[in-house]
Amino acid sequence: MKILVINCGSSSLKYQLIDSTTEEPLAVGLCERIGIDGRLNHTPSSTGKKEVIEKAMPDHKVAIGMVVEALTNPEYGVIKELKEIDAIGHRLVHGGEKFTESVVIDDEVIKGVEEVSPLAPLHNPANLIGVRACQEMLPGVPNVGVFDTAFHQTMEPVAYMYGLPYEYYEKYKVRRYGFHGTSHSFVSARAIEALGLDPDNSKLIVCHLGNGSSVSAIKNGKVIDTSMGMTPMEGLVMGTRCGDIDPTIVEYLAHSLNKSLEEVMTILNKESGVYGLSGGVSSDFRDLDAASNEGNEKAKLAVEVFSYRTAKYIGAYVAALDGVDAIAFTAGLGENNTVVRGQIMSRFSYLGIKIDEEKNKIRGEETVISTPDSKVKVIVIPTNEELAIARETVRLVG
Ligand code: ADP
Repeated sequence: MKILVINCGSSSLKYQLIDSTTEEPLAVGLCERIGIDGRLNHTPSSTGKKEVIEKAMPDHKVAIGMVVEALTNPEYGVIKELKEIDAIGHRLVHGGEKFTESVVIDDEVIKGVEEVSPLAPLHNPANLIGVRACQEMLPGVPNVGVFDTAFHQTMEPVAYMYGLPYEYYEKYKVRRYGFHGTSHSFVSARAIEALGLDPDNSKLIVCHLGNGSSVSAIKNGKVIDTSMGMTPMEGLVMGTRCGDIDPTIVEYLAHSLNKSLEEVMTILNKESGVYGLSGGVSSDFRDLDAASNEGNEKAKLAVEVFSYRTAKYIGAYVAALDGVDAIAFTAGLGENNTVVRGQIMSRFSYLGIKIDEEKNKIRGEETVISTPDSKVKVIVIPTNEELAIARETVRLVG
């Protein structure tokens, strides 16, 4: 089957056309600046040559039309006609408690996603715009929704309840949901397979470390806890998000800076994390590593704070799991950053973890980076959320 995978934001739309037999993308692309002016980057895998098409994209429907045009273009297209697209898989961010797994999208599902939109006001409406645009531009092609939150729905109340009045959970659904679920699911399944763990008797910690970062504790293939919360703000220190802080800081900063709650939240979301900690050097760890090497103390501290917080979560999840068989690293940093992986793992000698320093130099390749005598296995596994969405789509409509 040929599956079009769509990740739709408010002004951008990422896509991949994946051949489910080879599990390889035939083409990847990105529509940017939708509603502003419009630019489409399209790269067929066969040539690897990026085509840039600048054309007005007033809305997502036009953007999807341009994607279809690029995919079927006689020169750089990868299919002859539209009907070769068998199904569309959409990344949907927040499924609340309603969606515990992927679904074939119909009117009822759209209504359900709209109902949980207050929990993800920036993401869910944008995701649905992509769904509707596909329904209009590719009528008759089934659409599947794959939720970031779904894999975490196995958490028990002891892990997902906050220490707030219970009625806020009942009335407003305030609880931990967790995100990056598609990645945690893909990587945990692969880790269990690659390390030969028993799927029904295994304790695994997955560290998805990218621009947004989260850690999850997975027992027998099911999430029992995860570091992101009601929204992706909670947990680790991230590229520009602060992660866990004392909630009083919000009120204190609003008073001190004479800013509204919304303005303070923007600071916590967009100007904090390692970017803010480093004094604005960068949210990208390649820049932070370079600045640290040149003696920038704030950049060095930012990386150390990131690693320390991540190690604390891993330690907490060893307790939640009552032990751990393996730790998996994934996403941009987890797959590529030797410094961060080394700093995090250096805090676990008490667990008998030993890292092979040569192997820890690996970038972007599946590799066991612990030594053969390490008591806990540590593995790097490249994540592939688009492939995971394509697999789910085939599972539901194939
Ligand atoms: P996002 O959450 O936006 O998908 P990524 O998973 O790409 O982010 O992670 C971004 C981080 O990963 C950056 O800090 C960057 O330094 C790091 N990173 C991504 N790709 C590479 C690479 N090829 N080599 C080194 N670092 C990388």
